Amino acid sequence: MEFNDFGGQYVDEFILKGVKEVEKAYLKYKNDQSFIEEFNDLLFNYANRPSLLYYAKNMTENLNGAKVYLKREDLNHTGAHKINNVLGQALLAKKMGKKKLIAETGAGQHGVAAATAAVLLNMECEIHMGAVDIEKQALNVYKMRLLGANVVSVDFGLKTLKEAVDSALIAWNNDLDNSFYLIGSAVGPHPYPTMVRDFQKIIGKEIKAQINLSEKRNPDYIIACVGGGSNAIGAFYEFINNKEVNLIGVEAAGEGLNTNKHSAAISLGKKGLLHGMKTKVLLDDDGNIKEVHSIAAGLDYPGVGPEHAYLESIKRVKYVAVTNEDAIEAFKYLSKTEGIIPAIESAHAVAYAIKLVKNLSKDKIVVINLSGRGDKDVKHIAKYLGEEIID
Ligand SMILES: *Cc1c(COP(=O)(O)O)cnc(C)c1O
Repeated sequence: MEFNDFGGQYVDEFILKGVKEVEKAYLKYKNDQSFIEEFNDLLFNYANRPSLLYYAKNMTENLNGAKVYLKREDLNHTGAHKINNVLGQALLAKKMGKKKLIAETGAGQHGVAAATAAVLLNMECEIHMGAVDIEKQALNVYKMRLLGANVVSVDFGLKTLKEAVDSALIAWNNDLDNSFYLIGSAVGPHPYPTMVRDFQKIIGKEIKAQINLSEKRNPDYIIACVGGGSNAIGAFYEFINNKEVNLIGVEAAGEGLNTNKHSAAISLGKKGLLHGMKTKVLLDDDGNIKEVHSIAAGLDYPGVGPEHAYLESIKRVKYVAVTNEDAIEAFKYLSKTEGIIPAIESAHAVAYAIKLVKNLSKDKIVVINLSGRGDKDVKHIAKYLGEEIID
């Protein structure tokens, strides 16, 4: 497999045909000079790259330990790192002659990003979403429709993300000639985890160039939150062979690792199959996929990208977990200290960094990957803290 024991193409015969076609196309285009140039043009002229590597002076002074930098993926168009990936996959789909992007979404963030890329590249877009999630995420549903996407309500089973995936895969299979299945994180059957990492590795490349410009060396630590793992692998990849750089992935401990309400698939999962890949998965006693929880919708996933499972197995990356409570504290802390409201997902990385930085000496450098901005979370966090915002 691509990542030693992890990865693979564990899909039904009927899905395999589409997956093989994507694999063939990706192998063809990944080293194609004109594809690379077009992708870079979209990143730089549409998504607003390079994103800043911001020296967080207030935070550094306040914590009185290592020097802190924030990689500002929150400043990208649409407010997170997801745009990097959707632009890459949409461009590949276009090269393959496809007319339509199909995706599923849970909280709606990936759906909005996919719909955005579809508009830019003049493609149709069909987003599958559980009926329960549609109800909960009215704002993102409205955005997707505003962007011209067809939002398909999925009305079977629990009517959430799992069923949305099934529904999207059926739709893809029914329209293989015309459509492309766009995955939102570094997960799924090969080539998706590798391809998504390649579209996100620009984050780490930029960090390396930027920190070497300001500090004349690599950082000592890079910290990123891990849901499916795309922003983290994007930030880490360029540094995998730089053994002096400590890489730390932060999972969601939800209400605590000793409860049933978390989504820490690397910390507490077992080797298993999920969404076409072999990786670490949270399973119940009967071996079924567990119901998982995090206050951060983007981290609320029962598995993780296979490359992370591999990097943990060889001990190149350390994985830790942060609770809802600590993430909310960090959400407030960064807002008050730097005037930056982080996505609640990114706040998990900030929370771990706060603890770490205090205990490091002043000559150390820590980079936090700020995967997205927190506008989407303000209302939800307020409610969680007992304040209802009515608009
Ligand atoms: C979707 C999302 C995540 C989680 O996805 P990864 O693939 O693990 O990066 C993290 N942060 C933000 C802001 C997101 O929107």
